[in-house]
Amino acid sequence: IGEAGFRPASRIASVGVSKILQIGARAAAMKREGLPVIILGAGEPDFDTPDNVKQAAKAAIDRGDTKYTGLDGTPELKKAVAEKFRRENGVDYALDEVTVATGAKQILFNAFMATIDAGDEVIIPTPYWTSYSDIVEICGGVPVLIPCDEENGFRLRADQLEQAITAKTRWVLLNSPSNPSGAAYSEADYRPLLDVLLKHRHVWLMVDDMYEHIVYDGFRFVTPAALEPRLKDRTLTINGVSKAYAMTGWRIGYAGGPKTLIKAMAVIQSQATSCPSSIGQAAAVEALNGPQDFLTGRQESFRKRRDMVVARLNAIDGLTCRTPEGAFYTFASCAGVLGKRTPAGKAIETDADFTDYLLEQAHVAVVPGSAFGLSPYFRISYATGEQELITALQRIAEACAKLTA
Ligand code: PLP
Repeated sequence: IGEAGFRPASRIASVGVSKILQIGARAAAMKREGLPVIILGAGEPDFDTPDNVKQAAKAAIDRGDTKYTGLDGTPELKKAVAEKFRRENGVDYALDEVTVATGAKQILFNAFMATIDAGDEVIIPTPYWTSYSDIVEICGGVPVLIPCDEENGFRLRADQLEQAITAKTRWVLLNSPSNPSGAAYSEADYRPLLDVLLKHRHVWLMVDDMYEHIVYDGFRFVTPAALEPRLKDRTLTINGVSKAYAMTGWRIGYAGGPKTLIKAMAVIQSQATSCPSSIGQAAAVEALNGPQDFLTGRQESFRKRRDMVVARLNAIDGLTCRTPEGAFYTFASCAGVLGKRTPAGKAIETDADFTDYLLEQAHVAVVPGSAFGLSPYFRISYATGEQELITALQRIAEACAKLTA
């Protein structure tokens, strides 16, 4: 047929490769050319995987745990997940209400693939993690993006949710603390939203708790399945080991939810990956069952970086940044630099123009708000060494100072 005969399906062509990964690839290519690029793009902790977790993985290899495992997780990991939900979140999931996959991303994919019929709507508060809308589209669904005001801490309001629900609404997807905004929902923030959902019995709730362990200033993390038991049988609670345990490459995510949904998700998994990595699962058992006290130290380290980044951003003319409650991202407004000109005479018209300028001029890679559905903003991932962050922010400040009205 020749090369021209191969074409991605139209829905794949319109989605494309993850925008965050694209920016990371461009920055990495510049770095390979010898440019001193600092990448604040990827959401990847700079810590190493804890030693006890690595040891557990080595022991699994030596034991010969190198075969396919149970379809949606080893009994050991499913038990560790159920115990984690009970111990840390106060939610009871039986073993057949728990599933494990190749990262939380695969959990989202399995869940949407298993439940979305063409044209089904998924309500996604915006700004959102880029993969949410892309996965929904790949699965044939319609992302319904609801812009959330910075004044309301980038959180969805009950009246917005009420208005967005239609007969075609399948899911509402909530993420707290949020990637990219770092905004988190307290019990009081969640309550009015859960009251709306109680009224609309055809709508299911997907909750992404990936950043549960990265919250600041005494913020009390809560998850909806614990807050509202009447919603538990239509809630999928997603979590994973990637961020809290610095295990992004081990690719283990998990979820708790109603049995029928968990079973349907297993069908997708059986045709996609067969099972998550056996070694990764052994490591995740140790991550969940092992000592947790180191998490407080990591939290404190991220908090210091958050405070430094927020303060430095707010000191730059044209930028403003809200203090996030959790995760390791800032989502700053660049409204004040729009309309200005670069030294080369190019006008900064959008947040993507601004982040392009930062990459070219300051050699700092950050992600424009447009990638997360809300402009004009840009996201910094501050899960990077403190010194590198300071250098990056100095460079951003210098680049902004060079812009002219
Ligand atoms: N959910 C959120 C909000 C994320 O930010 C990410 C990763 O960036 C994921 C899920 C995916 O995590 P995993 O590495 O487990 O696939």
